[in-house]
Amino acid sequence: MKQALLLVDIQNDFLPGGALAVTEGDAVVPVANALMPAFDYVVASQDWHPPHHLSFAAEHAGYEPFQVTELDGHDQVLWPVHCVQGAPGAGFASALDIAGIDHVVRKGMERRLDSYSAFYDNHHLNATGLADHLKARDIDHLVVLGLAADVCVKFTVVDALAEGFGVTLVRDGVRGVDMQPGDTQAAIDAMQVAGATIVDSSELLTGLK
Ligand SMILES: [Zn+2]
Repeated sequence: MKQALLLVDIQNDFLPGGALAVTEGDAVVPVANALMPAFDYVVASQDWHPPHHLSFAAEHAGYEPFQVTELDGHDQVLWPVHCVQGAPGAGFASALDIAGIDHVVRKGMERRLDSYSAFYDNHHLNATGLADHLKARDIDHLVVLGLAADVCVKFTVVDALAEGFGVTLVRDGVRGVDMQPGDTQAAIDAMQVAGATIVDSSELLTGLK
């Protein structure tokens, strides 16, 4: 088994004070920093939207963030403007040890198409290339953490499992949006049902020594 660490969207806009702040989102940063040195290969994803991305409520007259509209025949949750390409909010968390990142994968770059997963857009029309990138390096297992547990982490984990990767989710390395109370725990349960192993980072660090 050859494994990599996958850090999902640990970006300023998802931290407290950011445009799409996840409660305690900053708590995942020290977990990521502690785990990175234990891995030979570390990948980080970035939500990376053009300025007028259609996942932004501001692009839809009469809609507020967190409402749902229809876009090209699919339900689309509308978000605050977030992670605009090159903007500070799209940058990695300042406390994240970015020197430990070997590869960055960006997603959500097409205006009409949202991409929660680091592997595919939400309608599975286009791959980001991450699966091929990992398979070319003989990586077959991913240890995943980041933001947000009930959105981008969940979609990433489900796609990773479908792509044939083994997945370990770091329970204390994720936090969720919880648009509805309980969404985060439901997402963790769903990832487990889909085949992910759920561990605490302390167990992982002990096991990797
Ligand atoms: Zn986004």
